[in-house]
Amino acid sequence: TFSVFTLGDALITFNPSETGPLRYVSAFTRKVGGAELNFAIGCARLGLHTKWTSRLGGDEFGRVIYNFARGEGVDMANVEFVENYPTSLNFKEIREDGSGKTFYYRYQSPILTLEPEDITEAMFDGIDLIHLTGVFLAIDPKNLAIVKRVLEIASEKEIKVSFDPNIRLKLWTLEQAKAAYQEIFPYVDILLTGLDEIEMIIGDASEAALEQCAIDFNIGQLVIKDGGNGARLYQDQTWYTKEAFKVSPIDTVGAGDGFDAGYIYAMLHGYSPEDTLEFANGVGALVTTVSGDNEGLPYLQEVKALISKEKIIER
Ligand code: ATP
Repeated sequence: TFSVFTLGDALITFNPSETGPLRYVSAFTRKVGGAELNFAIGCARLGLHTKWTSRLGGDEFGRVIYNFARGEGVDMANVEFVENYPTSLNFKEIREDGSGKTFYYRYQSPILTLEPEDITEAMFDGIDLIHLTGVFLAIDPKNLAIVKRVLEIASEKEIKVSFDPNIRLKLWTLEQAKAAYQEIFPYVDILLTGLDEIEMIIGDASEAALEQCAIDFNIGQLVIKDGGNGARLYQDQTWYTKEAFKVSPIDTVGAGDGFDAGYIYAMLHGYSPEDTLEFANGVGALVTTVSGDNEGLPYLQEVKALISKEKIIER
């Protein structure tokens, strides 16, 4: 089994039981969210050993997140509870026309108690890949030092690094994000990014500009996710393209995190570039068919079944 390391914050999401202005909604369904945790759950469901590093509120909701992640088989050795730091919450509003809004109740996140010194070399024993995202960087400027410490250990130990910018303009400005990415990209082996997102970051999403970005930052695999259009990969001066699976999406949130988990699974298992993209597209597509950020993350057999069925239809 391959082992994957990730690092990030998690929060509790309350989904409304009915549509309409939030002030009239009185019942909610409690869910667990967080980009890096979604990725970790995705990897664990596929069968990867997945270590998540985080800090949780020393409260009832912190317990909910802990038990949920542990129940999914995520390795919780690097997860600690912090007293007097309430778990962050997020209430969703869904209007009759399907549009949505998010109301954050983010206190000082418990993960802000994590310091660079807490990242030890021993945490990376046996780790084959480190996955980081821009969400952790966006939460607080001090997290850049933590990420740099992780990246230094990755270089020393020659562990592959994947990164998803996961830009969240509600948490920081584009200028701040770009400045942080400039420092991170040189360490990244696999960049997993949305098409719109990379266009915002480098200002141009033409193939020539993307190729130049891969060269400038020495990124071995530049992966472009494009929703219902599928995904592309630039590797060894070659472009690979795979169309998305035809599914009926009901909730696309979390598709990108699932795609990342699928990509990493297939890449670690030595799939060809095309098969890696296909497998990742399969995971992303399946996530969109289930409501919730991580509920739709498939088990290995489900992805394999989707892929083989597609092949039969193609013939
Ligand atoms: P987010 O971070 O909001 O989840 P993202 O930009 O990282 O989004 P998307 O490009 O929206 O990710 O989706 C990731 C992948 O999921 C796509 O590359 C594709 O494989 C799959 N996917 C997303 N939407 C669809 C869809 N409508 N039909 C089929 N597959 C989809």
